[in-house]
Amino acid sequence: MSLALSPQDAAFRNEVRDFLDTSLTPDLRRAGTLMTSVYCDHEAQLEWQALLHAKGWAAPSWPVEHGGCGWSAVQRYVFARERLLAGAPTAPLGINMVGPAIMAFGNDAQKAHFLPRMLNGEHLWCQGYSEPQAGSDLAALTMRAVPDGDDLICTGTKIWTTHANVANWMFCLVRTDATGRKQQGITFVLIDMASPGITVHPIVMASGEAVQNQVFFDQVRVPIANVVGVIGDGWTVAKYLLEYERGGTAYAPELKVKLDALRRQAADGLAANPLLAARIAETQIEVEVLDALEAEILSALSADRAIGTDASMMKILGTELQQRVTELALEAAGPLARAWQPGVAVPGGPVIGHPLDLDDYTSGEAWQAIAPLRYLNERAGTIYAGANEIQRGILAKAELGL
Ligand SMILES: Cc1cc2nc3c(=O)[nH]c(=O)nc-3n(C[C@H](O)[C@H](O)[C@H](O)COP(=O)(O)OP(=O)(O)OC[C@H]3O[C@@H](n4cnc5c(N)ncnc54)[C@H](O)[C@@H]3O)c2cc1C
Repeated sequence: MSLALSPQDAAFRNEVRDFLDTSLTPDLRRAGTLMTSVYCDHEAQLEWQALLHAKGWAAPSWPVEHGGCGWSAVQRYVFARERLLAGAPTAPLGINMVGPAIMAFGNDAQKAHFLPRMLNGEHLWCQGYSEPQAGSDLAALTMRAVPDGDDLICTGTKIWTTHANVANWMFCLVRTDATGRKQQGITFVLIDMASPGITVHPIVMASGEAVQNQVFFDQVRVPIANVVGVIGDGWTVAKYLLEYERGGTAYAPELKVKLDALRRQAADGLAANPLLAARIAETQIEVEVLDALEAEILSALSADRAIGTDASMMKILGTELQQRVTELALEAAGPLARAWQPGVAVPGGPVIGHPLDLDDYTSGEAWQAIAPLRYLNERAGTIYAGANEIQRGILAKAELGL
């Protein structure tokens, strides 16, 4: 899809380009360009967030009254695309997840305290949903929270928690009542990660990086004032937030940028490998199809129409194509990809001490160096944010009536 922009939107795109040109330091561009997974180095993320905040662009999808940009869906799309093209860091997780949930279900005091600190990057959030026995079946969660005066006493564990090792706040689902249906008796609560009784254990992934963690809670006191919504009705808040997680992403712009870069960077190799070149072209066609679907979703969102199961379709196509692109990149990198060694990676960031020179991150060598890490890390794309099997189940039920 080539987006035909109105004169106003084209002027907006130029303003975004100018801002990115002047504000992105070489270090920030490096962090955005050499991301080894969908997670960016958190320090770069927060530095970039502070610059966006100063410009008033910290939260593209938030309403103006809460410090958002009030942009149209097209403007948000333009901004996301230009950000990718420029190699800027991604937004911290709070902006697109817990922020909208606090706006919809939080009280005035919670909005006044948490939203500004999310915007300026003072608070870095992590998501405490999954437990060892509660992933796809999230409502099976068992982390207990027992009222005691003005507090809840929380005991249990959360797993796969991205950035729990660096976050200072967690939005978390706890069980305050175990008697009714499993969706009942869940409470959505905000937990200060500096609270006594919290221990964070890193989980080392296949890439050698440790961005995910298991978090243990031993009698952790959490003020009842930090409950978002109604005690026992956290499932309503959790589901609202998951809709943002699953439906709020457009995959095609990033895939296009990556495929273009791959074709450019691997140009010599591709001339000698027509089969690989053909597979890249085939993938490009599928990305165009996804782009058209995302454009339809964009129109629906602009007209305030519900997107329904399109979010599931987009998640399946987007993550499977993301994985395919990493497979193509790995193949194109050829023997150079083998230079990667486990243990030299930095959590969520570029590869330090890599045998290839990454100082010039725009060089041909840089993408070859991170191709294996990206390949390994993006295996997770079809698992997190609702496994693709679950998304297929949703489609089968809603669209095919199975
Ligand atoms: C890199 C990464 C980052 C993550 N970050 C976070 C985070 O920050 N916070 C957080 O709370 N969680 C996070 N998660 C956890 C993620 O949400 C869960 O891994 C996911 O929900 C799947 O749950 P599970 O791992 O327990 O697998 P399970 O639910 O046990 O599933 C195992 C397999 O069975 C399949 N399956 C299960 N149920 C069905 C069904 N009904 N129909 C068909 N197939 C089914 C699944 O698709 C999967 O293939 C992260 C996971 C990864 C890999």
